[in-house]
Amino acid sequence: MADYKFVTYESVDDGRIVRIMLNRLKTRNAQNRGMLVELDEAFLRAEADDQVRVVILGGVGPLFSSGHDMGSEEAIAERTAGPGQHPTMLINGGTRLSAENRMLQEWHYFFQNTLRWRNLRKITIAQVQGTTYAAGLMLVWACDLIVAADDAKFADVVGARLGMCGVEYFGHPWEFGPRRAKELLLTGDSIDVQEAFELGMVSKIFPRAELEDQTLAYARRIAKLPTMAALLIKESVNQTVDNMGFYNALQATFTLHQLNHAHWAEIHDDGYQGARPEDGVPDWRSAPRVVVRDPGVADPHLVASS
Ligand code: ZN
Repeated sequence: MADYKFVTYESVDDGRIVRIMLNRLKTRNAQNRGMLVELDEAFLRAEADDQVRVVILGGVGPLFSSGHDMGSEEAIAERTAGPGQHPTMLINGGTRLSAENRMLQEWHYFFQNTLRWRNLRKITIAQVQGTTYAAGLMLVWACDLIVAADDAKFADVVGARLGMCGVEYFGHPWEFGPRRAKELLLTGDSIDVQEAFELGMVSKIFPRAELEDQTLAYARRIAKLPTMAALLIKESVNQTVDNMGFYNALQATFTLHQLNHAHWAEIHDDGYQGARPEDGVPDWRSAPRVVVRDPGVADPHLVASS
């Protein structure tokens, strides 16, 4: 076991399969900078190892990942000058000013990280339980296959809660379809695992208690394929969607995301880069809970409170 603080790295079947787990139970696997840097190291370690055929990415506890870490003490210390500051806050644009700083830091640690994991030279499987929020979706979507527990739900709440046009890696239209992507971003509602399966986003639905064992069995089945065939299958699909515009659309929407941040930062005297209650969104810490979209209900919050 390497010396990771925010993830675990485990070899299975003589190293043919690697299981990486997000390991921040207290914050529901919120992604702080330290976690993202370690996750990149862990993925690249698995990629470099010729024994490895399949990488499973999971998260400990009740849910896979609650998204980017907005406010834990640890995350605030990482961003603030002092002994707890993460060294990557002083490189890759971290010493530049304003929009340039934000654009470069998000490009390296959110956008390019995710794209690099999507292009990993191994087959990757996301193992998901509970509700996956916002930037949690980026980790899930970066994987080649997604398997989920029967309690899994998926939501990007950054439109409804932060006045943002989705997360930095804009996979939404490709994963949800264009109209469902608009609906989910405009309402902040979630989809359940059955709908994610019907959309083709999720490959398997397992009982929660069997998630780990069933995911491993699935990984073992895929690990049997000759490595050359497995990689070229992955590349054939990825290069097809890239030629359909996926890669260029990701670049364009990352730029829109930066414009959206710049808008809020320009409005707020303290430079805060998202919307606040005075801008017309609920406080993200006390916002109404996320509900599963219902085709027959206009506003499920009204139903819940009546
Ligand atoms: Zn952002």
